[in-house]
Amino acid sequence: MGLSSLVEPAIEPEQLEPGPAQSVSSAAALIREMLPAVKYAEIVSSNGPESCAVCLYEYEEEDEIRRMRNCRHMFHRCCVDRWIDHDRKTCPLCRKPFVPDELQEDFNEKLWAASGIPDFYSEYSPITNFL
Ligand SMILES: [Zn+2]
Ligand SMILES: [Zn+2]
Repeated sequence: MGLSSLVEPAIEPEQLEPGPAQSVSSAAALIREMLPAVKYAEIVSSNGPESCAVCLYEYEEEDEIRRMRNCRHMFHRCCVDRWIDHDRKTCPLCRKPFVPDELQEDFNEKLWAASGIPDFYSEYSPITNFL
């Protein structure tokens, strides 16, 4: 394991754990709500241009950025959204949870409310539908 493996943002299919299907979209939506996107120009520091650890492009002033509440890492909105869509709930860079401990309970409550009555069985469709 070299250093490069730490910054490599590869999303490998075998790393994707199958989560409970009905909570994925609400969890993703809630995470997006918690991490509002802002223009890079609004949060830029005097440290000069930084680059997104997901796509490795430098931020442009007009780029929309999401900043992690827990670790303060920043990513392009579109980059981190793709990550969230893979049901990831941790920072692509440092693997800290998107949801800080002190907000975890609140998050779970909202998630519970958003998902309503678990609609588990109706989510089940034969996989042959996709063939
Ligand atoms: Zn990016
Ligand atoms: Zn981080």
